[in-house]
Amino acid sequence: MMHATEIIAKKRDAHVLTEDEIRWIVNAFVSGEVPDYQMAAFSMAICIQGMQDAEVYALSMAMLESGTTLQWPADERPIIDKHSTGGVGDKVSLILAPLLACCDLRVPMISGRGLGITGGTLDKLESIPGFRTDLSLEEMQQQVQKIGCTITGTSRQIAPADQRWYTLRDVTATVPSLALITSSIMCKKLAEGLDALVLDVKCGSGTSMHNKSEAHALAESMVHLGTRMGVTTTALISNMNQPLGRMLGNAVEVNEAVEILEGTGPETVRAISVALGCEALMAAGMESEADAAKNRLVSLLDSGQAREKFAHMVSAQGGDFEAERKVAQPFVLSSKHAGYVSDIHAGKFGRAVVQLGGGRQKLGGAIDPSVGIELCVEIGETVEPGQELVRIFAHYPPADPWMDALLEAIQISPEKPPAVPLIIDHVTANTA
Ligand code: URA
Repeated sequence: MMHATEIIAKKRDAHVLTEDEIRWIVNAFVSGEVPDYQMAAFSMAICIQGMQDAEVYALSMAMLESGTTLQWPADERPIIDKHSTGGVGDKVSLILAPLLACCDLRVPMISGRGLGITGGTLDKLESIPGFRTDLSLEEMQQQVQKIGCTITGTSRQIAPADQRWYTLRDVTATVPSLALITSSIMCKKLAEGLDALVLDVKCGSGTSMHNKSEAHALAESMVHLGTRMGVTTTALISNMNQPLGRMLGNAVEVNEAVEILEGTGPETVRAISVALGCEALMAAGMESEADAAKNRLVSLLDSGQAREKFAHMVSAQGGDFEAERKVAQPFVLSSKHAGYVSDIHAGKFGRAVVQLGGGRQKLGGAIDPSVGIELCVEIGETVEPGQELVRIFAHYPPADPWMDALLEAIQISPEKPPAVPLIIDHVTANTA
């Protein structure tokens, strides 16, 4: 007979927990035998003491097995997904799901909502009138078999331990733990019954991992775990010091994703989408050469085939792709100085979108899909006084102090800043 207090105290004192102890506490939490206050103490002990690889593996397995793992009909098409740790302006999921489905992959993408400064894929998609993000697992699997992809919300049957635990961690300052983040993300992804998984671990002011060593540790931890669970897993570490692309918000980000799917749109968004797509094709064994993978993806974007697949996915989920996605009226912020744009603080822009109503400050809050921000410049460009830097989409003119603070989030310097790579590192089973 186990006792929660003994397991919590063992972790508090930095001992290694056994697989049985971990499985017991996870199951007892799901059944209600272990109350929230004990799980909160357990979470804090893990945050402070960390966990060894074997413990993270046991924790992830216990969370995965608290729910169902999708089984797929035998089919030539591998099952693959991409997961991003979240960043400001990150609309890549909207592009990658249909793009990979065009390459004969099946993509059952279970996504989340925005909380804090990073937007949520489901919130963005809900700016398309009628789009359903609440497919049942049966509906989701039928759609993937039929058209190759879906992007939908989670179900109560997928890793219920994580659903309860994440809510608790969110209000007990226990989200930032390598062990807990790894197991929380991976148990949900592995429940999709994947053959391969590609991770985009963001690094910078617009995400939770602020420096390269933190991002690297998380990427390694997840790649290691996925590989151990029999899923080919690779990760890119990508720059989130400036927002990704020009558009930040919900409807405006869907519009920008559609531009990329039509072969236009900002180069950075296209580049990271193609880079992650290459990883996916190679991880799934659909291509062996990066150049061939890249050419295939670029031609699917430029020919409009990826856009066509996205339109299919939208209508399969009840959405009206042709309907206008309303955007509020623009208010312009102009430069006061001449020089080079040397920094666009992703974190401050992410917060500004939330303040406009485009993100939520607490779980379950409402989102206004029509508000957002357009960045008219990128790091490295020259600007003149009076030149437009930012357009703010809002229902009323923002207050001057708010506008001034946003202007300060863009640094203009006399010297050209050094170029910063979009993709900082690549982590595979061989390097992790
Ligand atoms: N996203 C998750 O799903 N879980 C975490 O713990 C952190 C981010």
